Amino acid sequence: MSIQDNIHAILEKVAAAAKDAGRDPESIKLVAVTKTVDAQTAKEVMDAGCTTLGENRVQSFLEKYEVLGDAPDWHIIGHLQTNKVKYIVGKVSLIHSVDSLHLAEEISKKATALGITQDILLQFNISGEESKSGASEDEAESLLAAVSALSGIRVCGLMTMAPLDADEEETRAVFKGLRSLFEKLKEKNYPGVALTELSMGMSNDFELAVKEGATLIRIGRSLFR
Ligand SMILES: *Cc1c(COP(=O)(O)O)cnc(C)c1O
Repeated sequence: MSIQDNIHAILEKVAAAAKDAGRDPESIKLVAVTKTVDAQTAKEVMDAGCTTLGENRVQSFLEKYEVLGDAPDWHIIGHLQTNKVKYIVGKVSLIHSVDSLHLAEEISKKATALGITQDILLQFNISGEESKSGASEDEAESLLAAVSALSGIRVCGLMTMAPLDADEEETRAVFKGLRSLFEKLKEKNYPGVALTELSMGMSNDFELAVKEGATLIRIGRSLFR
């Protein structure tokens, strides 16, 4: 199937899952994860109508940025090292994977120097799997309070990943967990924080994520088969 056919098939499934959950399909955005393909193929994704592209590694992002520039709406979705922050701030519209105050401080420093505001999501490890990155739920309130006090950075929502080998029930519990953390944090009304985005769901579990309230789904493999 072509990339266009694949996007179409995914959007149909999103619409069906949204309908099931009584949600507006327009409230869910597809982030095309282009980490496994080259810039030319990423361009084909854009031409097929999906202009939000997600990269998990800074190096891979920079290679494509050199070719495609600001034409796509770039998202960084993978674990980010503080020493790489300087290469991406100002070039990407959203960083999904902020999981420590230290990392947020680095982003704040760079954004402030550029005179811009960088939008970010806080990533949480809801499943508690040791191999997964993400902050723990226990530190959510203190982390959000500290990050929201930094200049040049705006927390727009939360992100998580379900364990790859999880069954449906376990996956759903992870998404439900992020959703309830999101609701809890929203009630706190931290100054300057408007939590609107829930980034969850990949090729194998995006329909469940949509049913549990995802606003950003990160899809790679299903686009390129
Ligand atoms: C690769 C990746 C995805 C996309 O996964 P697929 O299974 O290819 O859809 C989503 N989120 C993150 C953080 C990733 O690294």
